[in-house]
Amino acid sequence: MLIAGNWKMFKGPVETAAFCLALRDAELGDADVVVCPPAVSLEVAVQLLAPTEIAVAAQNVHWEPDGPYTGEISAPMLRELGVYGAIVGHSERRQLFGETDETTAKRAEAALAAGLEVIACVGETGEERERGETEDVLRRQVSVLPDDDGLVVAYEPVWAIGTGKTATPATAQDAHAFVKSLLDRPVLYGGSVKPDNAGELLAQPDVDGALVGGASLDVDSFTAICRATRPG
Ligand code: PEP
Repeated sequence: MLIAGNWKMFKGPVETAAFCLALRDAELGDADVVVCPPAVSLEVAVQLLAPTEIAVAAQNVHWEPDGPYTGEISAPMLRELGVYGAIVGHSERRQLFGETDETTAKRAEAALAAGLEVIACVGETGEERERGETEDVLRRQVSVLPDDDGLVVAYEPVWAIGTGKTATPATAQDAHAFVKSLLDRPVLYGGSVKPDNAGELLAQPDVDGALVGGASLDVDSFTAICRATRPG
């Protein structure tokens, strides 16, 4: 099972170094672990976690290898740094920075072609769920994603991200099974995963891990979630 920590815009290089040193000594159970620091902190994370099995991924990646794209970072640049993968299509990118299904797909394809692993985020808003549109939204978002061995989907209901509201295990299971019926890839759950709810979410048969935001910023809560994974 994969547990990925999305740090969002938290932890510059100094805090990242302290976190990675603590993570090196922590008990992680059987989980495959990935941390996703801000771009400026990727290098120190890669260096400090190099002696471990813990991987480092970026929070976004552009589809061109280089060019006049102010503020963007390309897949070859991430590879040069020793980064293992990238998140694409996070709902904060979609809601606040104009990310679309099409740009998410382009980012995913370029990253995979460059040899990065990709965590592609999908998920409905609260209004979409209330209107009964969850499956339509997931179908639209998943349909553009490449069917590739390097791709993992993260089901992140937008109403559960950073809100403290978590999908019930049954709701998550239903959505994961639906996503897998569209694209046969591992699916992580994301949305207010905490040490006290991780076990029941990760026990669902189609929940293959978690993408963790807030609770990934603290070594103790992040590693407790890692230890909550079921074996295998
Ligand atoms: C996320 O940002 O991907 C996320 C799941 O955040 P949180 O765990 O804080 O809800």
